[in-house]
Amino acid sequence: MTTATHAFDALMDITARPQVVFVRGKGSYLWDDSGKRYLDFVQGWAVNCLGHSPDAIADALAVQSAALLTPSPAFYNAPSLNLAKALIEKSCFDQMFFANSGAEANEGAIKLARKYGSLHKNGAHEIITFEGGFHGRTLATMSASGKKAFEPLFEPKVSGFRKARLNDLDSVKALITPSTVAVMLEPIQGEAGVWPATDQFLRELRALTGEHRLLLILDEIQTGVGRTGKLFHYEHAEIEPDIMTLGKGIGGGVPLAVLLATEKASCFAHGDQGGTFNGNPLMCAAGLAVLEQVSKPEFLKAASDAGQLLASELQKLSARHGLGEVRGRGLLLALDLKLPIGASIVAQAFQRGLLLNSPQPDALRFMPALNVSRAEIAKMIECLDAIMTDAGVARQVA
Ligand SMILES: *Cc1c(COP(=O)(O)O)cnc(C)c1O
Repeated sequence: MTTATHAFDALMDITARPQVVFVRGKGSYLWDDSGKRYLDFVQGWAVNCLGHSPDAIADALAVQSAALLTPSPAFYNAPSLNLAKALIEKSCFDQMFFANSGAEANEGAIKLARKYGSLHKNGAHEIITFEGGFHGRTLATMSASGKKAFEPLFEPKVSGFRKARLNDLDSVKALITPSTVAVMLEPIQGEAGVWPATDQFLRELRALTGEHRLLLILDEIQTGVGRTGKLFHYEHAEIEPDIMTLGKGIGGGVPLAVLLATEKASCFAHGDQGGTFNGNPLMCAAGLAVLEQVSKPEFLKAASDAGQLLASELQKLSARHGLGEVRGRGLLLALDLKLPIGASIVAQAFQRGLLLNSPQPDALRFMPALNVSRAEIAKMIECLDAIMTDAGVARQVA
């Protein structure tokens, strides 16, 4: 046992991790402390949209850390004002609040909806969410999530979340009561295994929520910031939600999240919301560096093209090995394996120096850097092909 191995015990054991320590990252590659290199198609869970440690973020952090770390959330700072202005200009929203994690941004969205209900809808507070949905790990966001494994945990849950079925408008209609204030969903259910809401369903939801004066809340923590080939996923469906949350990609690798709202929905008063590190200049400087790159039309076009290439290569691989469908959009894709072999493939890929994710036993999820190259996609496919060939041989022998 090395010293490093020994130190593993100092951390609460909240998930199974491979027994290696990562020390360096650049672009699509990560290195462990033995010097082994890994091609990374996880990227911190769709976080590092510009790849590992891009110069733009490293430089922004270096400059900002030398100038001002935090003046206090009670004072304005330039990076947060500049990032807020840029996000408002590039989206359909009018105001925003910074958070430090996706769950915290969603917690804010839930509070904002409840505040709206208390001001404008007779105290309505229920939020319709979806089976399979994932919104984070605070008590309220776990309660809002429709993840089966969360159900028995940490009872009693926060009340007021009723679960409809994705792409089933009648299941939403059936849950609307005078107590309902909002409908909240991910445009693509990421943790559940990359299950997209159809554009038509999103449009129907927009119409339905409008009819009933309900807020439509999109959790774009995984789908936002170029991940699906547009800056925000809602642009695909050509709808305008009332509230949206961002996380993951907006920080490009540092903890930054955002709660955005239209003028109508932006109803917090003094004392309703806050936080020590919210909108601190260091993280906002990183967010600005990310947004500046990702919002360029040519960057989004390249990410969208890379997504199409990855999808078509995965389809070919699926056909070669008798696997299932490829789903998702842009660079948030899943491959249906048809068998519960996801964890085994992830482990074999790790041995071969490829990082993949299996959000469900029978699916692989692909979320590379948005600037992943064609050569890196080809290399990943080649490695996965070799693993599937071995797995196929193993299946026939067994
Ligand atoms: C990751 C994620 C969250 C939670 O974000 P954290 O930063 O881990 O708190 C919430 N919603 C969606 C859709 C996510 O993908």
